Amino acid sequence: MPLKTKAEYIESLKGLNLKVYALGERIENPVDHPLFKPHVNCAAMTYQLAHEPEYEDLMAATSHLTGKKVNRFTHIHQGTEDLVKKVKMLRMIAQQTGSCFQRCVGLDALNALYTVTYEVDQNHGTHYHQRLKKYLEYVQENDLMCAGAMTDPKGHRGKKPSQQEDPDLYVHVVEERDDGIVVRGAKAHQTGIVNSHEMIVMPTIALGEADADYALSFAIPTDAPGVIHIFGRQTNDTRRLEGGEMDQGNDEFALVGGEALTILDDVFVPWERVFMYREYDFAGLLVERFASYHRQNYGGCKGGVSDVIIGAVTAMAEYNGVAGASHIKDKVAEMTHLTETLYCGSIACSAEGRPTASGAYFVDPLLANITKQNVTRHIYEICRLAHDIAGGFIATLPSEKDLKSKEVGKYVEKYFRGVASVPTEHRFRMARLIENMTGGTALAESMHGAGSPQAQKIMILRRGNLQHKKALAERLAGIRRDRD
Ligand code: SF4
Ligand code: FE
Repeated sequence: MPLKTKAEYIESLKGLNLKVYALGERIENPVDHPLFKPHVNCAAMTYQLAHEPEYEDLMAATSHLTGKKVNRFTHIHQGTEDLVKKVKMLRMIAQQTGSCFQRCVGLDALNALYTVTYEVDQNHGTHYHQRLKKYLEYVQENDLMCAGAMTDPKGHRGKKPSQQEDPDLYVHVVEERDDGIVVRGAKAHQTGIVNSHEMIVMPTIALGEADADYALSFAIPTDAPGVIHIFGRQTNDTRRLEGGEMDQGNDEFALVGGEALTILDDVFVPWERVFMYREYDFAGLLVERFASYHRQNYGGCKGGVSDVIIGAVTAMAEYNGVAGASHIKDKVAEMTHLTETLYCGSIACSAEGRPTASGAYFVDPLLANITKQNVTRHIYEICRLAHDIAGGFIATLPSEKDLKSKEVGKYVEKYFRGVASVPTEHRFRMARLIENMTGGTALAESMHGAGSPQAQKIMILRRGNLQHKKALAERLAGIRRDRD
């Protein structure tokens, strides 16, 4: 049965020979390193929960290729029910981790490529879809974690890839061989890549003929020769290196995905792993499909994260002795309203999904983009309300070491207590959870993850059917009766 356990996943990562750099140093064993361990633990939940009978319906699916039971993170959506289950799965995992479990990006890349390779083949007489299916079978059979690699560094944002002064600012082909291609460039913000087995590369924007060298999609192992990962910093990340457990807020699962800049320094890709090669006319479609699948997710995962934040401030209000205050209740109701609004969007774009020519189901792209646009706003408001309810001490709290100090611990204990019935340590821990879940990197991720707000606005306008709406208004205003 191709379902890895948590232990098998972690063990399999140890077999990789990744070139990872963090804080200026090469990290020989990222799996056990305190900087990476919480991210590994979080992704590992996507394996662990698939073995728990309670979650099996959400976490596992039947492969349409082999008929075998596979992890849903490797499954191609066969109907709207699959799309809805994906969202429910994401919310459930986020509720248990309070964080980003990273594996959705590869899932979305597989689904987007599944639909687009089929259409490329129909138009160009190529054979990418068959290749992709073979690769998918390999991923399902080995229950691999794939990183989805879309975002290029982009350089001058006003110029196309081929117009850049440095041609490597978008991933491009530098050599074509009988057995494959050699690629160069980098992918930015690569969620979960240092604990993924594979990376699936796609273009980041719609492309024209002059940019055909950049119209590439392919899969490579994350430890392929020439691949280098430089891990990004996160708010409070070095608290993980201090040896305590409370100051990180959520020491088991981290707070965001763990992103890296991944360099492709002349990496060889065999033909059987190439899924788009110079078909520039389909680059835009691939971007739109991937982005919409990924934007579908955000009311699920951020909904689950927000559930934890709502729970944290509800507890904190009790610890502070203000749970009964009407303004607290009103703010918690507001946070709940915003959270469920996010979730509604994700469910709606899934329920309104449609089959593509390949047979795989695609979300309603307008509703998916609306969902992500809401996330860029509502999460900030949810976090603002969380800060309001929790109180200013989440920004001034001393360290865990002070709480445990022989000399001053008794003062921290005494003066950071809320109601007498709740130990100071509980209030301390909850404050740290709120501090870390509602600030810094976690907020910026909600803004820019799955694409910045302006990228959604472009798709919203493209899909908004303004001419139809204009005709509706003109007809009712008596300006155009020709539609009667
Ligand atoms: Fe998945 Fe959400 Fe993380 Fe994106 S931000 S990888 S959708 S958990
Ligand atoms: Fe993300």
